[in-house]
Amino acid sequence: MEFVYSMPTKIYFGRDIILKNKEVFRNIGKKALIVTGRNSAKRNGSYDDVVKALTEVEVDYILFDEVEENPSLETIEKGSQLGKDNNVDFVIGIGGGSPMDAAKAMAIFIKNPEVNKDNIFSQKKLKSIPVAAVATTSGTGSEVTQYSIVTSNKEKTKKNLGQSVFPVAAFLDSKYTFDLPYDITVNTAIDAFTHLVEGYLNTNSNYMSETYGEKGFELFKYCFKKLINKELDSNFRNKVMLASTLAGIQIAQTGTSLPHGMGYPLTYFKGLPHGLANGVLTIEYLKSFKDKSKINRMLNLLGMNLEELEDIFNKLINVNIEITEEEIINYSKSFVSNKSKLKNHTEKVELEDIIQIYKKSLLK
Ligand code: NAP
Ligand code: FE
Repeated sequence: MEFVYSMPTKIYFGRDIILKNKEVFRNIGKKALIVTGRNSAKRNGSYDDVVKALTEVEVDYILFDEVEENPSLETIEKGSQLGKDNNVDFVIGIGGGSPMDAAKAMAIFIKNPEVNKDNIFSQKKLKSIPVAAVATTSGTGSEVTQYSIVTSNKEKTKKNLGQSVFPVAAFLDSKYTFDLPYDITVNTAIDAFTHLVEGYLNTNSNYMSETYGEKGFELFKYCFKKLINKELDSNFRNKVMLASTLAGIQIAQTGTSLPHGMGYPLTYFKGLPHGLANGVLTIEYLKSFKDKSKINRMLNLLGMNLEELEDIFNKLINVNIEITEEEIINYSKSFVSNKSKLKNHTEKVELEDIIQIYKKSLLK
């Protein structure tokens, strides 16, 4: 057995966890750039809690609240300019994956003034100013991963920024998710579940990463039932948040696999929310495995067989997009042309396999 395990993010999980640990901010820096989406952080109490904590420990801040879903490099440049103009020395990302990922990218841009949206992908191992993350969806796990997924309009795709920015602190308080609408709750939970699946069935998985994945599947056995019954009570909110964090810890070790890479064009060109873009491909991806032994271990923890999991996905996911065979072939060619997108998959796949997963998932 051989593995390297690293989880440098300090995780604070529980009710009112920000106000109970406000001194954390004082230990990180003197002036924060707070990064949020347009509305939700102000509505769900997370922004108010962060501002109260910062005020009480006398840490200054400035707000950038313009992050859109699937954040673009243009927005990231704009936010980082605000940070540079105001001499911030750390960033606090509050929101779903979009603001948290944007916060990480801005922390890189602020630390490295020579970096911009046109040269970022050719840069190696850049340092960033510190980032704290407050998750308000239970999905991406971005609060505990090193990844920042950004939209490159120049390359017409979403991609990883290619830098490693683990938040120094992650705050998880499920009260911020209580009013998350049912559809966003489902889409983000499916994202967390796909992280569990793709991290588990991954060439990089090892004993440590699997430990998180397996606990996550156990939690999802409960969470799926609650999602199907639309019982989004505080117990569910806590457990799904925990599951998404465990899934984040797992993919921080392993990376994701086929559905994530294949889902990006569905988000970029067809506007599918991130979780749905992966989720719509997940069942056919699972069916495509020749060796199902590890999938059976996963299903055992979920307490169901593949048909029952497919039934749950059919109930939760309803994707109606117009897509042609030609588009599928183009996405598939582009996907297999990048060998790094295939290396996390444990079996050999060819162009035709990828085309089939797209077709069986989308041309029903
Ligand atoms: P999101 O794009 O951050 O947010 C989706 C929507 O949910 C927005 O309209 C947002 O409103 C709203 N929202 C957020 N929190 C809410 C709350 N508590 N109550 C009500 N509404 C709320 O969604 P996401 O699925 O969390 O993040 C997706 C992004 O993360 C994608 O770009 C994806 O590629 C990336 N991702 C990153 C990782 C990673 O490891 N870094 C992993 C997976 C996915 P506002 O805009 O007003 O805030
Ligand atoms: Fe994801």
